[in-house]
Amino acid sequence: MTHEYDAVIVGAGGAGLYAALEASKTARTAVISKLYPMRSHTGAAQGGIGAALGNVEPDNPEWHAFDTVKGGDYLVDQDAAIILAEDAVRAVYDLENRGLPFSRTPEGKIDQRRFGGHTHDFGEGPVRRSCYAADRTGHMILQTLYQQCVKNEVSFFDEFQAVELIMDGTRVAGIVTFELKTGEIHIFRAKAVMFATGGFGRMFKITSNAIANTGDGPALCLRAGIPLEDMEFFQFHPTGIKGMGILITEGVRGEGGILKNKTGERFMERYAPTLLDLAPRDMVSRAIMTEIQEGRGMRGDRKIDDWVMLDASHLGRDVVEAKIPDIADFCRTYLAIDPADSPMPVQPTAHYAMGGIPTDIHGRVSTGKVTYDGLYAAGECACVSVHGANRLGTNSLVDLIVFGRRAGQHIAEYVKGASMPSMPADADAGGRSKIAAFKKNKGTHSGSLFEEMQTVMMEKVGVYRNEGDMSTAVESVSALREQFQGIGVDDAAENYNQEVLQILELENLLDLSLVTAAAALNRKESRGAHARDDYPDRDDANWLKHSLAGLADGKVTIDFKPVNTEKWTPKPRTY
Ligand SMILES: Cc1cc2nc3c(=O)[nH]c(=O)nc-3n(C[C@H](O)[C@H](O)[C@H](O)COP(=O)(O)OP(=O)(O)OC[C@H]3O[C@@H](n4cnc5c(N)ncnc54)[C@H](O)[C@@H]3O)c2cc1C
Repeated sequence: MTHEYDAVIVGAGGAGLYAALEASKTARTAVISKLYPMRSHTGAAQGGIGAALGNVEPDNPEWHAFDTVKGGDYLVDQDAAIILAEDAVRAVYDLENRGLPFSRTPEGKIDQRRFGGHTHDFGEGPVRRSCYAADRTGHMILQTLYQQCVKNEVSFFDEFQAVELIMDGTRVAGIVTFELKTGEIHIFRAKAVMFATGGFGRMFKITSNAIANTGDGPALCLRAGIPLEDMEFFQFHPTGIKGMGILITEGVRGEGGILKNKTGERFMERYAPTLLDLAPRDMVSRAIMTEIQEGRGMRGDRKIDDWVMLDASHLGRDVVEAKIPDIADFCRTYLAIDPADSPMPVQPTAHYAMGGIPTDIHGRVSTGKVTYDGLYAAGECACVSVHGANRLGTNSLVDLIVFGRRAGQHIAEYVKGASMPSMPADADAGGRSKIAAFKKNKGTHSGSLFEEMQTVMMEKVGVYRNEGDMSTAVESVSALREQFQGIGVDDAAENYNQEVLQILELENLLDLSLVTAAAALNRKESRGAHARDDYPDRDDANWLKHSLAGLADGKVTIDFKPVNTEKWTPKPRTY
């Protein structure tokens, strides 16, 4: 079956819904989502959305932009960071006007709390910049945007999984999808296609990410010959529930929670004397791993489960119940611990992809040298790049609604002048034969490959990295990609075949794992979330550049792209 739309947006999280809202002002717009929109991972965002409203204490967007650049260890494109910080203020009020129920100050203004790396006066001390709706900020954003899209008559194709991007040279032609309910292949022909498919934390064993976060958009681009930017930078959030990875929001530390080692010491005093527990995530994750490696952490059942404590018990039950109610619930449910009484056991958890599909500040997919007509990306799957080598907390939600909106606006203009692209008659042949092969094969199954990939990535391309480990990861993931060739399903049913979906997702994660490991091996310095034991220093002379990694015939190729440093000269990063 073939459908035609002016614009097709793949993904119904915050980025996709905001883009749909804008694009639908002029374009016949469809949103394709493998999940029901409200199940998108944006709904899990707890801590808040950063904007220099200055409601609780003095603040301004220039400080926010600076913090973003410094937090990203100067790999951030500064023109994009300035747009992010300036537009964040409008974006938050816009969400408020559309009905988002933010938590309030006693005078009725949007309340704001502290978050890691967000400071006043260019690093002088922490500032209250995160706007929040208790610890359900993302959930509220999704609700707000979805109802507005329904009002604008956006067409939703729920439980449709994009499996292939169809290009006509450097111009987009459309997208091939698999309908979960029927097992049918649908082709969407469109003047503009946008990816808003979210992150890919599922390549790691311990992750805060939802099951569906498998990087489908970036993997489809890679297979269509489009390289991915800065894939070596993957953020480990310092505080996941030990062994499970479920996120304990940084908002807990924003409200005054403290990290402690096994002697009860507030160890962040030794690593970040000014910002303490609210230093950027890469630094706090490294501090926790160092405490554990040097014997000052608590022992878990497996080595990868070792942990430290996050203590919020001194905040009092009223604060815990009012400001972090869902977190308190998670702890009671999964750990039988009440954070109002006892510390929470935490460890770093794979959380956020700084890298992804390269775009310009309008959301157009572009490597700098080549811009792909009609192809857009925004949100976690994209790399603008506003997060550089390490994203600050609360800046992803801003990224979604600032750059999701900008992409939607650009699409609305672009489709007015564009014709419908031509699409080959057999555009769906590749997708069909791939799925038919899975159903025919009876060899390897996806479960064990998934498990092995996640363990290799966690152990060899984690918080601390080195040449030997990363070379092993490249070899192991390459071997898993070979084994994938014989993969098959137990259940060849047409309807609701989850096994087929899982195999398609595994294929995507394997490609992204290989590119991540190879790009990390290639970058011979430490910067932001990429911390190498064998190259412990940042090396601006050789490495102040974005990487662009392509994949052809099982081999990763790496090219580079300059960083925009128009406003702030890179300096050493202390907090
Ligand atoms: C637990 C948790 C808490 C977080 N808390 C915060 C926070 O407090 N503040 C902050 O700024 N950031 C936070 N983040 C990060 C932030 O929430 C995410 O980066 C962001 O929500 C991603 O939004 P998105 O729109 O890019 O994608 P998502 O919300 O992940 O949505 C992806 C969409 O793409 C669709 N999709 C994917 N693949 C396909 C396919 N092949 N075919 C069709 N559809 C597809 C899915 O169905 C889904 O609708 C948090 C992340 C996690 C995991």
